[in-house]
Amino acid sequence: MDTLIMKFGGTSVGMTTGLTQLLSIVIYEVERWDRLLLVVSALEGVTDALIEAAHLAQLANRRGYRRIVTTLRTRHLALIENLPLGTVERSALQADIDRLLFDMLDLCQSLADHHDQQAKPEAIDAIIGVGERLAARIVAALLRQNNLRGVAIDATDLIITDNVYGNATPNLELTRERITTHLTPMLERKIIPVITGFIGSTVAGKPTTLGRGGSDYTASVLGVCIDADEVWIWTDVDGIMTTDPREVSTATVIPTLSYEEVAELAYFGARILHARMIGPLRERQIPLRVRNVFKPQATGTLVNEQAENSKPALKAVTSIQGLGLMAPRGGPLHPIAALVDEALFKVSGTHTEVMISSQSSSHSFVCFVISTSAGHDALHNIQVELEERLPTLPDGDQWTMFPATIITVIGTQVDSLHRLLASILTALDGIRILGMAQGRCSLSLVVEPRSSERAIRQIHDLVINNG
Ligand code: ASP
Ligand code: MG
Repeated sequence: MDTLIMKFGGTSVGMTTGLTQLLSIVIYEVERWDRLLLVVSALEGVTDALIEAAHLAQLANRRGYRRIVTTLRTRHLALIENLPLGTVERSALQADIDRLLFDMLDLCQSLADHHDQQAKPEAIDAIIGVGERLAARIVAALLRQNNLRGVAIDATDLIITDNVYGNATPNLELTRERITTHLTPMLERKIIPVITGFIGSTVAGKPTTLGRGGSDYTASVLGVCIDADEVWIWTDVDGIMTTDPREVSTATVIPTLSYEEVAELAYFGARILHARMIGPLRERQIPLRVRNVFKPQATGTLVNEQAENSKPALKAVTSIQGLGLMAPRGGPLHPIAALVDEALFKVSGTHTEVMISSQSSSHSFVCFVISTSAGHDALHNIQVELEERLPTLPDGDQWTMFPATIITVIGTQVDSLHRLLASILTALDGIRILGMAQGRCSLSLVVEPRSSERAIRQIHDLVINNG
């Protein structure tokens, strides 16, 4: 039984042109697969607006969050106004949009009423997950209007997570049970479930979210739990690129990548995919494709296990912001590492998975990255947290903290080909390198933010000239 999961991002569902593409893609693929499942993100920018609304509610700024709700309502209604929907479908959808936004307003109101108390994190996740619920209903209605059996499904009943609100991790076993009970019977009836990305709930039924960009993660978890043959991420760029095309115009699409390479890329800043989505797919060897919704004829990027054994080559360069800590002394690094880990956990709910450190008898250096799923403010919040905690450490006053950029070069067998390593270092001639770490398919270099653009360009030239 061939099963395909397709996830559509915020730009695909946020505009009529994107939705038209989505529809023709579904009409085409429904003939080719036995079971088809869709995962949708909120309309582009909607999650940011919802986060802002939750924030204003906590400050009891009633006018502020009401204004956001009004804008969101207008935006969603305008979108469906432009879609070719029948009167019945359209008015049912309008009622759904009003009901969801009304409930969300209610949640904001109660946060505002209790603003002197610590906000319940599940209330915030309930607010910021409304975008996906709105989008799923719009997409399902559009499918039904075109004689496809689309049904909107809230993943709160399906994706069961831990209770790290804002950055939760699904429990695959419990999720699989829910899927077998709720989703499999629908698929047998040839229904196309349109499932909300990004959201889940704890075993106790409290709403959670999977971190920024979490709809990819939803698609991957569903793929694993339903034994999908492939998972496709439809986005608004041509695939996974050699570097960020908005910064370097010569960036090109990478046709194939291994799971390990793509995981490193996502972890080290390529915002195209949620970093934690790769692990489950890799374990079950489910192929992943990243494709452009506006160019469905192009193949995009394929991630699978065959790519694990390909020839040595540099494939991509990416960058992510991090924090560096430096002290003019030697000695053990673990107290500072523990401090950083605690601060990070408090702010983002994740532990430090990657830390680049170096040490000599007279110098200590530690640098860490903040996962993109932790959201835009995480870096700043961690900095504030660390500033408070550093003085509690013996020798804490000796450490200085500064923003750092981690540039990561991804490639096949980067570790075994010294020529590749040498060429990277030569390309960075004249740029101060603060730290370095090597993985099997990656080399990360810590540089000052002011030299990052030049470093990326110079390494990218190597990437497109094949090392
Ligand atoms: N809408 C959510 C976000 O903006 C999830 C996603 O887009 O994948 O982070
Ligand atoms: Mg995304």
